[in-house]
Amino acid sequence: MPADPALPPAAGNRARGTREPMLDACFLGPYGENDALLEKLVVEFLRDHVYWRRNFHPEDPPAIATTAAQHPQYQAFEARMRRELHQLSAALKRSMPFHSPRYIGHMASDLLLPGLAAQMLALPYNPNNVTDEAAPVTVDLEVKVGLQLARMLGYVDDPARADCAFGHLTSGGTLANYQALRLALAMKAFPVALRAAGAADLDLPDDDWAAFNLGNASTTELLGRWQAWLATQPPQERARWHARVEAQRIEQLGIAGFFAAHPPLRLPRVLAPITAHYSWSKGVKMLGLGRDQLELVPTRGMRLDIDALNECLDRCARDREPVLMAVAVLGSTEYGTIDPVDGVLAARARSRQRGLDFAVHVDAAWGGYLATLFRNEDGSLRPRADVAAEFEYFPSPELYAAFAALGGTDSVTVDPHKLGYLPFGSGAFVCRDHRAMDLLAERADYIFHAQAPRDYMERFRSLGQFIPEGSKSGAAAAGVYVAHKVLPLDHRHFGRLPHATVRATEIFYERAQRFSAEVADRLHVRVPFEPDSNLVCLALNPRSNRSLAQANAFLWRLYDLLRPDTHQPLQVKEFFGSVTTLRPDLLGAAETARIYRSLGIDSAPDDPLLILRHTLMNPQLIDHENDISYIHRHFQFLPHSIDRLPTAGTADAPGGGAD
Ligand SMILES: *Cc1c(COP(=O)(O)O)cnc(C)c1O
Repeated sequence: MPADPALPPAAGNRARGTREPMLDACFLGPYGENDALLEKLVVEFLRDHVYWRRNFHPEDPPAIATTAAQHPQYQAFEARMRRELHQLSAALKRSMPFHSPRYIGHMASDLLLPGLAAQMLALPYNPNNVTDEAAPVTVDLEVKVGLQLARMLGYVDDPARADCAFGHLTSGGTLANYQALRLALAMKAFPVALRAAGAADLDLPDDDWAAFNLGNASTTELLGRWQAWLATQPPQERARWHARVEAQRIEQLGIAGFFAAHPPLRLPRVLAPITAHYSWSKGVKMLGLGRDQLELVPTRGMRLDIDALNECLDRCARDREPVLMAVAVLGSTEYGTIDPVDGVLAARARSRQRGLDFAVHVDAAWGGYLATLFRNEDGSLRPRADVAAEFEYFPSPELYAAFAALGGTDSVTVDPHKLGYLPFGSGAFVCRDHRAMDLLAERADYIFHAQAPRDYMERFRSLGQFIPEGSKSGAAAAGVYVAHKVLPLDHRHFGRLPHATVRATEIFYERAQRFSAEVADRLHVRVPFEPDSNLVCLALNPRSNRSLAQANAFLWRLYDLLRPDTHQPLQVKEFFGSVTTLRPDLLGAAETARIYRSLGIDSAPDDPLLILRHTLMNPQLIDHENDISYIHRHFQFLPHSIDRLPTAGTADAPGGGAD
C-alpha cells in the first residue's frame, strides 16, 4: 500500500502524544477555527440542493411569484420567523459548551465535520428511513453503517455470506438495548412456538425447557430449516403452516399468554452488572418482563465479577429459572470501566453444558468506538503489543481480551452520538447474524418470497419492519455513514480520536496522582477505579474530616463550581464537570470499606459517597499548537478553588445524570 501523507506512521512510539495534523480538520474546533471550511460546505451543498429542485421539472412555472416577497403578509411572516430565530439563537447561547476542552462533564464533545456537514446536506431532502420508498438513498447507507460497525466489532461484514451481521440505527443506546432484549426474547421463544404448533420433520428439542434453551446459533439454524421446509410447500399449505406457528409465538400470545401455555417455563431473567445503565431498567419494563427480572450482578472494581455471574447461573440452572441474556458493559456510563466480555462468553459456554443457554449482549453505547484502536485497516485484530506501544498503560491484558472477544457475542449497542462524535439521535444496534432479524419482522414477507433468496440489501430496505421506531431520520444515517467513510473504523483513521482521548486520560490519571501527593497535607484525593477508557472519577475529602456527610457537603460545594448554572453567564465557569455517587449497596462492603478508608472517612452507614466524574472525550484536551494542556490547567484550577471554597454550605441532593 502506498504511503498516505494524511496518515501518521503506522508504527513508532507515539505514547507521548505528538501533534496529529489530521485531527485539525476533524472538528469545527474550540474557537471555530474551521469556520470557513464548514461555511463553504454548507453553502455549496445548499445551492446544490436548490439546483436539484429546479431541475426536477424545469418546465413547471415557479409556484411562488417573484414579487411574493413584497407582500406585507410575506414580510410579516418573515419578520416573525426572524424574531423567533433570533430568540432561539440567543437562548441557545446558554447551551453547554460541549466543544470546549474545558467541558469534561457528560458524554458529549465537538462534532465531526464530515458527519455534521453530511447531515446538514441531507436535511432538506428529508429522507425517511422507515422504507426505501421514502429514502431511496439513505436506507442503504444505514444498512451499510451496520456493516461498518460490524467490521469494527469483529462480526462478519460480508453481505455475500449467509451469516453476515446486521445493524441499524436507533434514536440512541436506550432503544438499541431495547432492541437487543426484543430480539433475544423472539429467539428464545421461537423454538417453543414451533413445538407447540406441532411442526413436524424439524428435529425439534424434546421439551419446552430444552427448546427455550436452544441457544442463538441453533435457533438461527432451526429458523432456516423451517423457512426452507415452508418453501417446499404449495402456497396454501405454506400459508396454513405459517399461521399455525404464528399463533404460538410470544409476539402473538403476549408474555402472559405464552407463559400460561407453557407452565414449566418461567419469565426469563436479564443479568447485568450493577454498573448497567438505567436503560436496562427501562427495557425490562417496556418489554413487560418487569424489573423483578433484571438481576444486577456484583462487580470488582466496577467490572463484572465473573465468579458472581457463574454463581448466579448455577442458581438459575438449579432452580430452572431461564435466562434471557447476560449483558456485558463496554465502558460503564459512570466510571468508563470495561467488563470481561471474554469471561461472560466463557460463563455461557459453561452454563450451556447444564442446559441453560442465553444471549450475550454487549452494551458498548459508550466504549464501542474504542474498538477502532484494536482494528487494522483490513479488519483484522491488532496484536496487543502494537496497541500498547502507543500508550503508557492502555490496554491491560484483561481489556484487550474483552475487545478481542466482541466477535463472539450475539449483539452490541454502540452510540455514534457519543464516542462517534455525531449529532444526537444516533444510536446503533448490531446483531451477529442477520438471519435472526426475520423473527422481528412485522410482516413475514419471506413466506411469499420463500423461493427467491433475497439479496441482503434488498431484504433490509423496508427497515421499518425490523426496527422499534417507525419514521426515522435518513439525514442522521447519512451523517454516520459519511463520517465512517472519511474516517474508516480502524486504528489509523478513526482510531486517532480515541487514541488522543485515552492518552489524555493517562495524563489526567498521572496528574491526579501527583495532585494527590501535592495536597496530601490538606486533602485526600483518590481515583477510586483505575480508568479503563476515557472516563475518570475523583474522590476528595479534606484531611480534617472523617464524616461522610461532611465529605459529601464538601464535594457538593466543589461541584457548584463545575456544574451548569443557567443563572450565570457561561464564562463564569472555568471548567464543567459532572458527579456521580458510589452506592455501598451496589459496591459491596469490601469495596466500600477500601474506598472510604483511603479517604479517611469512618465507615459509614449505607449512604452514598459523591465523587467527581470527568468524561475526557475531547481530542483537543492537549493543545499542541499553543502548548496548552487543559488537564494541567484543571489541576491548577482545582486546588486554587478548593482553597477558596466556602467552609459551610447546603448539601442539596444532587440531580440525576445526563447520559
Ligand atoms: C449512554 C448509555 C446508554 C444510553 O444511551 P442513550 O443514547 O443515552 O439512549 C446505554 N448504555 C450505556 C453504557 C451508556 O453509556
